[in-house]
Order: sequence, then C-alpha cells, then structure tokens
Amino acid sequence: MIRHDQLYIGGAWVPCPSREVIEVVSPSTEEVIATVPAGSSVQVDAAVTAARAAFESWSATSPAERAEVLQRIHEGLKARAPEIARTISSEMGMPLHQALRIQVGTPVASFKLYAELARSFAFEEEVGHSRVLREAVGVVAAITPWNYPLHQIAAKVGAALAAGCTLVLKPSEVAPLNAFLLAEVIHEAGLPPGVFNLVTGYGGTVGEALVAHPDVDMISFTGSTLAGKRISEVAAHTVKRVSLELGGKSAAVVLDDADLAAAVHGTVANCFMNAGQTCTAHTRLLVPRARLEEACALAVEAAADWRVGDPFDERSQLGPVASALQRERVRHHIRAGVEAGGRLLCGGPDAPIGLERGYYVSPTIFADVRPDARIAQEEVFGPVLVILPYEDENDAVRIANGTVYGLSGGVWSATEERAVAVARRLRTGQVNINGGGFNLKAPFGGYKQSGHGRELGVYGLEEFLEYKSLQFKR
Ligand code: NAD
Repeated sequence: MIRHDQLYIGGAWVPCPSREVIEVVSPSTEEVIATVPAGSSVQVDAAVTAARAAFESWSATSPAERAEVLQRIHEGLKARAPEIARTISSEMGMPLHQALRIQVGTPVASFKLYAELARSFAFEEEVGHSRVLREAVGVVAAITPWNYPLHQIAAKVGAALAAGCTLVLKPSEVAPLNAFLLAEVIHEAGLPPGVFNLVTGYGGTVGEALVAHPDVDMISFTGSTLAGKRISEVAAHTVKRVSLELGGKSAAVVLDDADLAAAVHGTVANCFMNAGQTCTAHTRLLVPRARLEEACALAVEAAADWRVGDPFDERSQLGPVASALQRERVRHHIRAGVEAGGRLLCGGPDAPIGLERGYYVSPTIFADVRPDARIAQEEVFGPVLVILPYEDENDAVRIANGTVYGLSGGVWSATEERAVAVARRLRTGQVNINGGGFNLKAPFGGYKQSGHGRELGVYGLEEFLEYKSLQFKR
C-alpha cells in the first residue's frame, strides 16, 4: 500500500493539507493499492504561481540546455522502466509485458525525441524584412487520462519543456501513480524549481481550477469529449489556448481486393489492444457485403487469440478494464447493442468465465447492427468490435465518416494507391494503411469532435509555441 501525501510544487515535495484522499484501486484485484492527495484550488494556485515564477528564466534558456534536461529525463525513465511498468499495470490493468513496451517504452522514446527536436527545431526565421520568433506560449496545464497514462503525460510534458513552457500536471485520478514516479525522475534530472509541478485531484475541482485560472496560458487536454466540451467553455472566459485530444469511433475499411484475413486479424488486434481502451482503436470493421460472413468467421477466430487474464500473467493479452465504472459503461454499451438487435459473434456483457474478481470484460464482436445504432456510433472504450457491411467504396467512405468523431482509421487494399485514395476521403487525423503502425514523429490528433490541435513530432512542439514577428526598417 502506497500513501502519497505530498505534491510536487516549486521543485519540492510539499505536504497537501487537504485530508481528502483519492483511493487508487487495482482493476485486477479490486483492492485499494494506494492513496494520493485530492488537491484543491489552493494547491492549484501554489503550483501556477511556481510555474509563473519559473517561466521567464526557463523560456530564456537555450534549446540546447532544454535538450540536455530532456535527455536526462529520458535516461531516468529508462533506468526505472520495470518499476514504472509494474506500477501502470497495477493501476490500470494492461498486461505487464505489453506495458513495459508500450506504456513505458513510448514515453521513454518521447522524451528522447523532444530532446532531439529541441536541438534541431528552427526557433527563428527571416521572412522579408521580418524576423519571426517562435516563443513558449507560457504556463501550461496538462490534464491527462488513464488509458496510456504516462504516454499522454510525456507527449505534453516533453513538448512543452522543449518549447520553453512551464507546467502544472493534473494526471487522471484513476491512474495517478506513474506521475509521481515521473516527478521523481524530473527532480533528479535537475529541472529548475517550478518548471514542472504535479497536483493530483479530481477533474471537477483541480482540473477546472486550472482551466479557469487567469495565470494559465494554455490547456493541453486528453480525455472524454464530454470533459473537452466543458473545458472549452470554461477556458473561453480567459481566452486560453486549448488543445483537445478526445474520443473516437474509428473505422477500418477493407477494400474488395484486400487480404481479408490480414485485415480482420489486424483490426481485431488494433481494437482489443489495452482492453479496447485506446482512443484511436479501430472499433468498426467495414467489409464488402459479399464477404461479410467470411469476415465474421475470421474475426471470431482472431478474437480467440486474445486471452483475457491477470496483467501479471505472461500469457495474458488482455487485462481488466481500468475501473468498476469503466466496466459498467462497457457492459451498458454491450447490452444496448444486444437490445438493438445486434448479433453477438462472441463475448457479451457477462464476465469471462473464471474471472469474476477484477474488472474483466469478455472480448465482444457484433454483426448485424445498423451504422446508426448506438453501438456503432458511440465510443465504448472496451474490447468491443462492430462489423458492418458496405455496398461500394462510396458507401464505405460514407459509413466511415458517419460519426461525430474523426480520430483515426485504417484502409486495407492490395493496391497502395487505391488505399491512399480512400484514406484521403476519410475525415480523420490519421489513417493506417494495411496495418501501418504508430509513429511518434507523425502528428497525432483529431478532426470533428475528436478534438483539435496535434501532439507528437514537431507538430506537437509547435502547439506550445507562439509566433512573434519583429519588423526591421531596411
Ligand atoms: P475524463 O475526460 O473524465 O478525464 C480525463 C481527465 O480530465 C482526468 O484527469 C479528469 O480528472 C479530467 N477532467 C474531467 N472533467 C474535467 C473538467 N470538467 N475540467 C478539467 N478536467 C477535467 O475521461 P476518463 O474518465 O479518464 O475517461 C472516460 C472516457 O474518456 C473514456 O470512456 C473515453 O471515452 C474517453 N477517453 C479518451 C481518451 C483519448 O485519448 N481520446 C483517453 C482516455 C479517455
């Protein structure tokens, strides 16, 4: 049992006077494994004041100096990778062998990438008789979710530090423990006091206090579309810059010339990874009507490879979902899909046999649902795939684009140009061609109600920069 009773503010661990704590529950054992402070607007004020005080000197450091600190954070995280992976598996449930590679490997790589980008980015350019400066936007509040908790933190913290911003991080109350480990690593890396601050607490209190704070210049948020809308409203009063990474209901479009088995297996894996708790998950599989039954059979076969079980058992591919609330949301969606007449190919709302303890959900695949049914429209955030038939390519594009979201997607075809032509028509921020993988250097973000702004790569760095132009009399 871990008891955190301090927050990281102004370069030091300071006691949180609030008696209220947040219990962190292991989704595999349902036991309380830790408590963290439930901060309030008092700690938010202290953290923002520290970040503001540190801003002038940190934003004036050379990019090379910032790169050195980022490199040390990269090395510090790498050295503690096994411990961090165990922590994340315990608090949110991803199988340990995957967590080490994905939940820790990705943030380790992000800090290295931002060290490199700080060194190579052109912070100034000449345009006619002007010099255009790229300057840090100011004090950033980073508000993050629980599904890839440290990755989502690193995407914001790495880029913001490289840009010269100072920050207050409010991690998810569901999986906050990894953020304490990051704060320790950052402290050891010698980041000047106040540049990075950590305040834990609930979204409605700590989160909203940050969003409303007049001395915060930018909100970088990842989470639900509902919270993103609320944040936009609250931030409008102080005209803050807001960057939102929200939900998705992404479609994998399998064209009639594609290798159907590869497409179905690839999409099932994409959908079920992290128990379906991935905002970019391909949760709708679109196949030519003539091949629907073949695709259904292949999907059931692929699902059988996704063994559900204890995150600390090496054979597990799919752990529990992150919380009791999340399991209830997922079950609710599955029941609604059945009530709407969906055909269950596998899974369902009941817990997998033998896994009654822990927030486990059976990997579930639906067929025979209409593209406008709730199960085919709303983000489930669980291991649930919907297979939808289409008539022709135009119909496939129409169905793929027919939700309020636009985060990700896939196109499968034997002809790359054909796949790219369809990808161009998808209103989403990223499209995987024939199962192409995640790229930290490529822009990540959404169209439509999946949000705005981009993270990762040089695009993510630019989010945290202002433009300033100096005009010379020549
Ligand atoms: P959430 O939006 O409730 O919480 C995300 C973060 O925002 C947390 O740190 C939370 O405390 C904070 N927050 C919540 N309300 C806030 C407010 N009014 N002001 C400021 N901060 C606030 O999301 P969640 O509970 O972590 O996950 C729920 C749903 O969010 C999921 O089911 C899924 O639909 C979606 N989600 C999307 C992504 C993504 O990357 N797009 C990631 C995680 C979750």
